[in-house]
Amino acid sequence: MDSIQIDAQLPGGNIIVKAIDGNQVLLNREMRDTKGNWIYWKFRAVFPSAAEYTFRFDDSYYCLTSRGPAVSLDKGKSWGWFYLSGAEATHLHAHGTEAFTFTAEFAGQEVWFCQCIPYMESDLNAFLASAEGRTVQRFELCKSRKGRSVELLRLGDGPMKVFLSSRHHCQESMATYALEGILSEVATHPQEYSDFTFWAVPFVDKDGVEEGDQGKNRMPHDHARDYGAAPIYPEVCAIMELIHREKPVLVFDMHCPWVRGGDSEHVYFVGQADARLQAGIDRFSAIIAREAPPDFPTDPRDDIPFGQGWNTSHNYEQGSPIVPWCATLPWQPSAQSIEIPFANTHEVTVTADSARHLGNALARSIKKYLISNF
Ligand SMILES: [Zn+2]
Repeated sequence: MDSIQIDAQLPGGNIIVKAIDGNQVLLNREMRDTKGNWIYWKFRAVFPSAAEYTFRFDDSYYCLTSRGPAVSLDKGKSWGWFYLSGAEATHLHAHGTEAFTFTAEFAGQEVWFCQCIPYMESDLNAFLASAEGRTVQRFELCKSRKGRSVELLRLGDGPMKVFLSSRHHCQESMATYALEGILSEVATHPQEYSDFTFWAVPFVDKDGVEEGDQGKNRMPHDHARDYGAAPIYPEVCAIMELIHREKPVLVFDMHCPWVRGGDSEHVYFVGQADARLQAGIDRFSAIIAREAPPDFPTDPRDDIPFGQGWNTSHNYEQGSPIVPWCATLPWQPSAQSIEIPFANTHEVTVTADSARHLGNALARSIKKYLISNF
């Protein structure tokens, strides 16, 4: 084997190999049905020899976090950031390029690289097989467009119902680590949550998760802009029916922001035009800031009010996300959308485990929020 081998034949794979010249590799992402550019890619490489290899993306659109790529040396079982700190990564984007250099340790070494730390169906299955995960009931929400079973989870049987979702945008993996952390906290302390029933859809865009789509800005619109009179995605249709049937008092929708820079490097809540929803967000955001772990802190000053930054009515012209749709429901549930960054929150580098810790804190915050609300 003389040349590096690169392919996307892995769960969630997404890469275009433009050129290979010795130890220099030129790549791009597959946009598929996404309009414009987005950030996701994932591939595996098998190295022909112990040497340095440079991977460069062939446009200047951001596709590396402020901690570089996520790297797995064990075929996707565990992932870490290439750079452990922002200071270490400063040269990464120094010339307006998106590139990183990896040193292979031996001939034949297989390494997986990804824009984010992935959370796939296999990760959910591992959680559901764990001691705490075994108390979570698993149902099928619906079949996806491509025939996959879309998971619906239930935990507890108390009167106060909470609905959790992640992956309306399929590549937003850190949100699902936090969702797992919520369920794990509840499962570990069942007596403390006996008033609650948690329903969760961890992969709203199940096909996109497993196939490695961008998901965001799908044409004609994505899953997070489908909460209207005639939803086009079976998952959204089934979620709307579930919410009408169960009448949760809180709908908590979890996302990740863009890849790096500005608001993409901290946790924030997405401000709402509806004053009642916004009052709930302000109260919840203050609670989670006190509960959040040191390895994933939050700060209400980072929240983005409606009308600021990207969060304007222009952003929702294609259709409604789940949270504004909840403002129209007759029993007036609380509804919130949190953004959980991929690689760092301010100076703190985050990981799969720290996102789970944030999820643990979100569970405690949900309890405090709802108990003091009733
Ligand atoms: Zn999103």
